[in-house]
Amino acid sequence: MPLGEFELIQRFFASAGACRDDVVLGVGDDAALVVPPPGVEIALAADAIVEGVHFPAGLDAEAIGHRVLAVNLSDLAAMGAEPAWALLSLTLPRSDSAWLEGFTRGLDALARRSGIALVGGDTTSGPLAAVVSVAGLVPRGQALRRSGARPGDWIYVSGAPGEAAAGLAVLQGSLPRPAAAERLVSRFRLPEPRLALGNALRGVASACIDVSDGLAADLGKLCAASGVGARLEVASLPVSAALVEVAGADATRLCLAGGDDYELLFAVPGDRVGDLPELGVTLTRIGRVVAGAGVEIVGEVRGEGPLGGYDHFLKEGRTTTARGLGGPSQ
Ligand code: ADP
Ligand code: MG
Repeated sequence: MPLGEFELIQRFFASAGACRDDVVLGVGDDAALVVPPPGVEIALAADAIVEGVHFPAGLDAEAIGHRVLAVNLSDLAAMGAEPAWALLSLTLPRSDSAWLEGFTRGLDALARRSGIALVGGDTTSGPLAAVVSVAGLVPRGQALRRSGARPGDWIYVSGAPGEAAAGLAVLQGSLPRPAAAERLVSRFRLPEPRLALGNALRGVASACIDVSDGLAADLGKLCAASGVGARLEVASLPVSAALVEVAGADATRLCLAGGDDYELLFAVPGDRVGDLPELGVTLTRIGRVVAGAGVEIVGEVRGEGPLGGYDHFLKEGRTTTARGLGGPSQ
């Protein structure tokens, strides 16, 4: 017998709110009640992940549970906010306990180590999709925004962008799967939101965005919000050895245009570079903010296709991202 909606919520979602003492009322009533501390702004974000659009059909449930929270935590990281509370709206084709066990294992493990409490949500039947809404806390006036970059600031990115897009291509069979590919696959399955980095960048970075649609595309968004341009040096990009081994000549293009990395991309004024944190995450200087508009890519990028990033409603012209590699899955 499949579990009914009430039993399903009780069994899988009722206990994950217990990890914070600022939750007055969690799962079970018509709304949750929480108490924000004094002196904070509350950062709110929501992100959906839909089967066949954001992840291939058949991706394991643990990865789906992890990813739907990770993509939201990444938005909080990009604002320099500390995770506090989350809501989950889940649409499931059927009440499948084994799938739900995997899903909650992925979601709960990340929630616990990020200090975020699941305080409510909604559960319906339909094509597989999950929406998480998160609330984070940031000291008043100190949130990182996309809009603070100024000409002369240096541009940095964390981690190794392009690995997640290559990992998705490996899962979809369009790139080979040597031993080095396992690292890339796990970068797609279990992206690590850069929460500690985002926190430490408050007061250091002048602008910040998380890389979800592709490094070049997201840098374009940061520049547009700041009213500046950028010069990005291809030779400086942190193209990882694993990415080169698996993607060959396409590695640099994937680094620039692949989505789903959830790394942080940020601008730092020259006199604050010495304050960049050392947190065990590689930070690479990849370019400089300039007066003007748009992103100038300096250096050669091999392979075909635009570098513009993924757009859900303009799929035709922008097909170099991870999501474009899989063919008709959108
Ligand atoms: P209502 O009909 O009043 O919206 P529901 O029956 O949908 O209430 O939900 C009952 C309780 O379970 C609510 O507190 C809701 O926030 C919570 N809930 C429902 N689905 C989920 C979920 N997927 N994750 C967490 N909490 C959930
Ligand atoms: Mg209600």
